[in-house]
Amino acid sequence: MSEPPASQPTLRDRPESEADAIIVGAGPAGATTAYYLARSGLDVLLLEKTAFPREKVCGDGLTPRAVKQLTAMGITFEDKGWVRNHGLRIIGGGVRLELPWPDLAEYPGFGLVRTRQDFDQILAENAVAAGARLRERTNVTGPVIDERSNRIVGVTAKDPDGAPVTFRAPLVIAADGNSSRLSVAMGVRKRDDRPMGVAVRTYFTSPRHDDDFLESWLELWDSTGGKDVLLPGYGWVFGVGDGTSNVGLGILNSTASFQDVDYRKLLRRWTASMPEEWGFTEENQRGAIRGAALPMGFNRTPHYARGLMLVGDAGGMVNPFNGEGIAYAMEAGRIAADVVVQARGRSTAQSRERALLRYPDILADTYGGYYTLGRYFVQVIGRPEFMRYATRYGLRRRTLMRFTLKMLANLTEPTRGDAMDRVINGLSKMAPAA
Ligand SMILES: Cc1cc2nc3c(=O)[nH]c(=O)nc-3n(C[C@H](O)[C@H](O)[C@H](O)COP(=O)(O)OP(=O)(O)OC[C@H]3O[C@@H](n4cnc5c(N)ncnc54)[C@H](O)[C@@H]3O)c2cc1C
Repeated sequence: MSEPPASQPTLRDRPESEADAIIVGAGPAGATTAYYLARSGLDVLLLEKTAFPREKVCGDGLTPRAVKQLTAMGITFEDKGWVRNHGLRIIGGGVRLELPWPDLAEYPGFGLVRTRQDFDQILAENAVAAGARLRERTNVTGPVIDERSNRIVGVTAKDPDGAPVTFRAPLVIAADGNSSRLSVAMGVRKRDDRPMGVAVRTYFTSPRHDDDFLESWLELWDSTGGKDVLLPGYGWVFGVGDGTSNVGLGILNSTASFQDVDYRKLLRRWTASMPEEWGFTEENQRGAIRGAALPMGFNRTPHYARGLMLVGDAGGMVNPFNGEGIAYAMEAGRIAADVVVQARGRSTAQSRERALLRYPDILADTYGGYYTLGRYFVQVIGRPEFMRYATRYGLRRRTLMRFTLKMLANLTEPTRGDAMDRVINGLSKMAPAA
């Protein structure tokens, strides 16, 4: 192999603190973006404030959409940490309905459960194997802004010993989750006109640990203020396959009582109402009940400005219909990487910027209409009378529920699908982009 001319800087000459792109946060969004950028030959720094393996509050559920993204990155599911599921079991209104995942060419016919304890580590290791440079226990503290251009050109951070460090790159990707301090520091804030959820979960040792269906309970009653109110949201029981079940619930912000609900108490009351033999008792509880926010329907925009791209929860990319965020974080990571690679191939700064500005447009074209429908959905299910009607009558109609599953899980053929797919795709196209 011939050496490059001595005058050209090579990767080896470059200080370790410089890169083609910096990614802040090694969750599913950051690790996926890093994987695709590194595979395209970019020098990528992936900065993560924690060290793997580490706990992450989540339901640990992966739909066929997420499986597709994992498969695209060469991840296989042979080891026993992966639990396959065949569909969704819905419980409500006295009905228990098992709906297999739709049979589609676009998506695999199975979902998975894998605890985030090591799921994120698998993705991060995959990015490292592709060439990304991962720095754990590196807490990013703020942006470095170029005064002349007013663009982000790097980040400040604390290294594992707490010492201040600076990293530099012409492009920075915020994949730092719901709070996204980096976005906030760059003036990109949350939008109040977009839905938000709160979810809590814990684990129980349970005979149900190897359930091969994801289970969702549609009736969550709250008695805050002495009145029973049907809440907009659902509870879940996902088998983790290691002797435990992940049990949790998520509620949307479309009811007046959203702020007042004691989520931990609600979870305790709900699990106490379950059959004794499932073992969802205090003695069987493994770990505390922990919760976090679900930023939905693009609740932080713009997704690109001044050299900063937002990916995953940082950009509020959770699906408002079902609270799924991992698949969308990975999909957006792939889109972001593709845009960055194309931008790098341009010869002028102006042309590069135009290419980067494609990112918010592609996101809006891909998810905008569907997320707008999701926003309407969140409003509608915030009405207790609708929820009551839907659980009482809707659940008994299997065809309607098959449609609902496709709609809620966003699982349709993009083209040449059946009548249901065409209706869902048509509605998403007609709705104005979020
Ligand atoms: C209770 C609950 C249950 C859920 N269940 C599901 C589910 O079953 N299925 C599903 O698909 N989605 C679920 N979600 C949503 C899902 O967890 C998120 O959408 C997903 O984690 C988003 O990935 P991300 O990479 O964008 O962000 P995150 O997973 O939040 O990753 C962000 C990363 O950035 C790091 N970071 C943050 N700040 C800094 C900093 N300053 N410097 C360096 N690193 C930093 C963090 O340590 C973290 O590793 C659930 C959420 C909750 C709260």
